[in-house]
Amino acid sequence: MNKPLILVVEDDGTVRNLITTTLKSNDYRFLTAPDGESAIGAASTRQPDIVLLDLGLPDMDGVEVISRIRSWSQMPIIVISARSEDADKISALDAGADDYLTKPFSVAELLARLRVTQRRLAALESKNGESVFRNGSLTIDYGAGCAYMNDVPLKLTPTEYKLLCLLAKDVGKVLTHTYLTDKIWGSSWESDMASLRVHMATLRKKIETDPDTQYIQTHIGIGYRMLKI
Ligand code: CA
Repeated sequence: MNKPLILVVEDDGTVRNLITTTLKSNDYRFLTAPDGESAIGAASTRQPDIVLLDLGLPDMDGVEVISRIRSWSQMPIIVISARSEDADKISALDAGADDYLTKPFSVAELLARLRVTQRRLAALESKNGESVFRNGSLTIDYGAGCAYMNDVPLKLTPTEYKLLCLLAKDVGKVLTHTYLTDKIWGSSWESDMASLRVHMATLRKKIETDPDTQYIQTHIGIGYRMLKI
């Protein structure tokens, strides 16, 4: 297999060097772009496997880079944002970013995020055309509309089942509160956010029966992610 090609979009030379040095020593290939325009150009001409995107760019907002890439490609995008850009991080996820890293981040964290994204890609490719989803002891039979834990049918409410399917469809990816409430209720009022928390809690109680296996991870203030077991 070819080494994955990573597009690094970052205007800060120091951060860019840290990232590219890490990539080089961990068997990745990379390209760099210092601004949004050149990032969009490189994404379309070089078709990288993953984009690492800083949100604060000199010529345009990183969120705009995501929207423009998403108009023609589903390539994975991992956002890199400073803590002060928390609101932007959420709009970046809503615009279609797959994951995020908060500055300052460690090399280990960067590598972990890249691995998660690669696993998600591999899972997506292998499940193409399949109507059954498997992750650890969890099985979802989309055709039958049933979910199982260790082959025992789960007694889920329609909302819990819908939530589980949404998380499974994007396994490994953080889904924002707004994205989830919008998909389920078509709105994202404060009351929907509260309902989401309740349904998520009951869903987790039903599927996380083994205390050693966590299926759903909470990202406080942002959303939820189904972990690839
Ligand atoms: Ca920047």
